[in-house]
Amino acid sequence: MSSLNLKQTAIKAFDAAGTKLLSPPMNGFGYFINHGPRNKRKVALTFDDGPSRPATEHLIDAMRKLDVKGSFFCLGVNVRYHPDLLLQMYQEGHVIGNHSGWHSRKTGLMLGSDIRHILDGEEAIAEVLGVRPCFYRPPWGWLTPWEGKRLTDAGYKVIGWDVYTLDWVIPEVDGITLARDAYRDTKPGSIYCFHDAKPWEKQWVKTETTRAIQALVPMLREQGYEFVTLAELLDVPAYAPKREV
Ligand SMILES: [Zn+2]
Repeated sequence: MSSLNLKQTAIKAFDAAGTKLLSPPMNGFGYFINHGPRNKRKVALTFDDGPSRPATEHLIDAMRKLDVKGSFFCLGVNVRYHPDLLLQMYQEGHVIGNHSGWHSRKTGLMLGSDIRHILDGEEAIAEVLGVRPCFYRPPWGWLTPWEGKRLTDAGYKVIGWDVYTLDWVIPEVDGITLARDAYRDTKPGSIYCFHDAKPWEKQWVKTETTRAIQALVPMLREQGYEFVTLAELLDVPAYAPKREV
């Protein structure tokens, strides 16, 4: 095996171990909220890594037509590309959460009290909205207990998921397949993890996530499900006053 292959194999093993140990729905050391109440047919769609154009625009157009509000875990770097789009999402009733400043896996693994990666994403959002987000999802869903504590101390609710989708795979998985898989895994209170962008990409074309939502929403409405934001699902506020610096 060449040293490059060896390195790639090591990275793959590290990724798999990290995901197994640190990601929802099994772990997170008690800090993850992975679903809402199981006794009501309310569910929440969440989208990570945006915003981007045209992917996020197409998605929110489709959601407007479906009359569905979602929750978007936005990245500081992408927010700075498209502040006008972020404001539009907020004004249309979607909930904006923090997905860190720049999507580094390392920052959450590091011990200590450095929370710049959290505050950077927060500041990018607060600058546009005038309020700070109260929901956070760590990049890759990797959550160490110390990062969970840092986030909780900073006033965040850490949001995982109980329905994971493969909509981030490139080339994209067909939207109807994504919808069927998500439908199969749905329970009352479910939180879905979708993606509306790619970290650090200002322009991104992504058609299948939108197709998946267009297929999933009517299927579940027929079963009596209602689509709500995380704030409504969990009955907690989505925002707090901007932090004094
Ligand atoms: Zn992400």
